[in-house]
Amino acid sequence: MTRTRAGTVGALLGGALLGIAVSIPFTYVLIVRASNAELVAYTQRILRVLEKAAREDRDAELAVLKDGLPFCSDAEISLMRGLVYNASFVRDLGRSKEGMLYCTAARGRLETPIHVSRPTVSFKSRDLGSDVDVSAGQGLLIAPGLRGLVVDSSGVSSVLNQALFEGMDEPPLKAAGMVSDRDHGVELPVFGQIGKLSSAEVLAQGRLKRDGMVYQPLCSQQYAVCAVGTVLDRDLIQQRSRVFWEFAFMGALLGTLIASVGLLMLRRERLFERRLLRAVRKGELTCVYQPVVDLETKAILGAEALARWTMTSGDSVPADVFIRVAEERKFVGEITRLMMDRVIDELGPLLYSPDFRVTVNISSQDLLDSQFFEHVERSTAWTGIPPSALAFELTEHSTADQATAAGAIARLRASGHAIYIDDFGTGYSSLAYLHDLHVDAIKIDRAFTKTVGTEAVTASVVPQILAMADQLGLTVIVEGIETAEQAEYFRQARTGMMGQGWYFGRPVPAQEFIARMRAEHPAKRVSKGASQGAS
Ligand code: C2E
Ligand code: MG
Ligand code: MG
Repeated sequence: MTRTRAGTVGALLGGALLGIAVSIPFTYVLIVRASNAELVAYTQRILRVLEKAAREDRDAELAVLKDGLPFCSDAEISLMRGLVYNASFVRDLGRSKEGMLYCTAARGRLETPIHVSRPTVSFKSRDLGSDVDVSAGQGLLIAPGLRGLVVDSSGVSSVLNQALFEGMDEPPLKAAGMVSDRDHGVELPVFGQIGKLSSAEVLAQGRLKRDGMVYQPLCSQQYAVCAVGTVLDRDLIQQRSRVFWEFAFMGALLGTLIASVGLLMLRRERLFERRLLRAVRKGELTCVYQPVVDLETKAILGAEALARWTMTSGDSVPADVFIRVAEERKFVGEITRLMMDRVIDELGPLLYSPDFRVTVNISSQDLLDSQFFEHVERSTAWTGIPPSALAFELTEHSTADQATAAGAIARLRASGHAIYIDDFGTGYSSLAYLHDLHVDAIKIDRAFTKTVGTEAVTASVVPQILAMADQLGLTVIVEGIETAEQAEYFRQARTGMMGQGWYFGRPVPAQEFIARMRAEHPAKRVSKGASQGAS
């Protein structure tokens, strides 16, 4: 009991630890992805602000040039004032000629023209088609004492309000903006620190890690501006450490849940196994008989014994399900012996009828079990049942170990029992293989029977199987016959064919089967007294 409890606790703990272990790399990847996505989104926001400023600047310059008013006339100054008034980034506009500034929106006509700032960056504008000179850190036109960013293009100078770029940090994310021309790679900071990135690296727009910092440059498609989002790598991860623990907790929870479900399933399986074993030992498994008929005369030649188990709850479990469990838990031999006893008990008198044969399904484990052989020998010896009345069905799969199978088959045949290969066609049997096993009959799997009446039958291997049986002189029993058409198809296919299936009769308890035999074959020895006479 305590061992079971310790095992349960261990499994749950193991599940929790496994859940955490699995969630760590998963969470890390998620965090890194989310962080990267956040940095990109932030940089895009900054780039949109820079683009807005560039667009506003270009629109203002275009508006001045488009109107074509006389140079520095009152009308032109008034136009420029209107434009500045309505702009958010452009603080002043002016007109220049040959490097000299003659008037601005803020100061009107200048008494003495002044030099336009010497350009820090010059490039050809894609929108205007003209040269654009940008100077940073120069005296502002509006207030010569202050410093700012002056853009001069086609005789129109504008001043950008750099203050609007301040306060765009979203800790731990920081940003820098720059004028950067794709073709020339020039760059000029508008605001913020771009760190140690080269112009080429900015224009490449790839994420970079340097000195513990992550940089994400993004450049505008339309304007000569780029934004670089930066963050201290450690800050980014630290900020998300809560997420990390949350995921680890969820991983532990999920791991425990999976372990609990696993334990529950295991426990149910164990309970199922214990119930089955108890049912076998208490002889609660029953046996039903399905008639095997001669396809030519429709006479019943024998039966297949099939195991049935109805649990105390009233649910019946499919035979292949509990047989598989019994095979896995290595007690299928007990079922085989129980079935043999049931067959002898229930069909006794019939077994002495000439030409009547009942088949019992056996498993590969029986072939290695001395108890099985002893049981077979004892059963026939004590009851006097002719060994030919008791045959055994072995699936193709259970004969995979050919040496063991061949030895066991030889021993059973030597005692007078016939051996059938069950579910034939679903496994590995080749002609040579069958030849070496020396069996008496094959039972064609019902998967092939199903193909009769469909186009698949011509493509199926049924004709080859029959030819192979002819060559080896084997009896053929067709399984799963459900229709008259299927029965007729196989009747015509070969002489001496036998069949089994719902068309001829479902598996039924012994009494019902005996009653049918009495009705259809009164000549056979099916009376109760017959068994005594034979033993
Ligand atoms: P199997 O030996 O091939 O038995 C034939 C199966 O096909 C039986 O299923 C039977 O009820 C079913 N059957 C018969 N005629 C028809 C038909 O016309 N149509 C359809 N759809 N099915 C048909 P069951 O009784 O559920 O047994 C399933 C399998 O479990 C058996 O296949 C056999 O491999 C195994 N089995 C049953 N009883 C025992 C047993 O006592 N010992 C061993 N080792 N295996 C057994
Ligand atoms: Mg069978
Ligand atoms: Mg079968």
